[in-house]
Amino acid sequence: MFEQLGLIGCGLMGGSFALAVKKAGLVKRVVGYSKSPSTTERARQMGIIDVEAPSALLAVSGADLVLVAVPVSASEATFKAIRHLITPNMLIMDVGSTKLDVVEAARRVLGAHLGSFVPAHPIAGKEVSGVEHADAELYIGKQVILTPVEKTQVGKLKKAIDLWEAMGCHVQQMAPESHDAAFAAVSHMPHLLAFALMHAITSQPLGKDFLALGGPGFRDFTRIAASDPKMWRDVLVANKHEVVEQAKMFQRSLLNMLQLVEDSQGEKLEAMIEQASQSRAHWRMGQKGK
Ligand code: NAP
Repeated sequence: MFEQLGLIGCGLMGGSFALAVKKAGLVKRVVGYSKSPSTTERARQMGIIDVEAPSALLAVSGADLVLVAVPVSASEATFKAIRHLITPNMLIMDVGSTKLDVVEAARRVLGAHLGSFVPAHPIAGKEVSGVEHADAELYIGKQVILTPVEKTQVGKLKKAIDLWEAMGCHVQQMAPESHDAAFAAVSHMPHLLAFALMHAITSQPLGKDFLALGGPGFRDFTRIAASDPKMWRDVLVANKHEVVEQAKMFQRSLLNMLQLVEDSQGEKLEAMIEQASQSRAHWRMGQKGK
């Protein structure tokens, strides 16, 4: 399907993408670049990339598919670094967890090439990051949200959809703004809450003793608190407006419930828990509610 993938950012997401497209026979050759030469070298040793590029610009030279898999805060600098070697036949995508900031960076930098850029967010990942965790199976069966803009070329969008589907993904399209609002609710807030809870417990004098008593509920609730700090710093800052909106709604629910606890209003508290419990019991990943 593609001759050459130019991969910028040979970490967990980029490395997994390269392994997956190679395994599926969708790309013949992968040229990769990462900020640290040691990461790029490791990616070649692991068979993730075939050729190490000395710069982002040279990674895209001769590619017909480009994947930008860097922290979202590095998107604009990456677009600037590659723009002079973008050709009309290239399909350019990213995998950033936020979309409006990446789309705005692309609008500022890519100019006439904006139509070749199909913003993407695969709903796949791990708590661990780095090239050593790259996994050819990471994307299989996962959702991928594409957030095309007015200028996105129809042919490039179709190629992107075909590629992700050929990797075993379910593709959905959304506006970047709707993406960021939704993921603030179901991804960014849960991560913020998990970080805040761990922080609150470990800041107490007896915090370590409390942690030692945590059971399966605590384990499940806090699993995502072990996620990569730099990546999550970037995501929360990039989507701050939507995160703050969701945090206000959460605060309202929390304060309501706390008040009911304080006032021993058992019945009203139970009704709120019942509503939450029913919603969670009927929730299925990737399925729209009734
Ligand atoms: P990662 O494992 O840390 O990989 C990021 C890679 O980007 C690293 O190899 C890093 O190089 C490289 N890099 C950083 N700045 C760069 C720059 N300016 N130019 C070139 N390369 C640069 O992180 P990841 O989990 O793959 O995340 C990558 C993207 O995927 C992020 O935008 C994130 O929001 C998105 N995402 C992540 C997940 C997840 O669960 N992890 C899920 C969905 C989307 P060094 O190794 O040299 O530092």
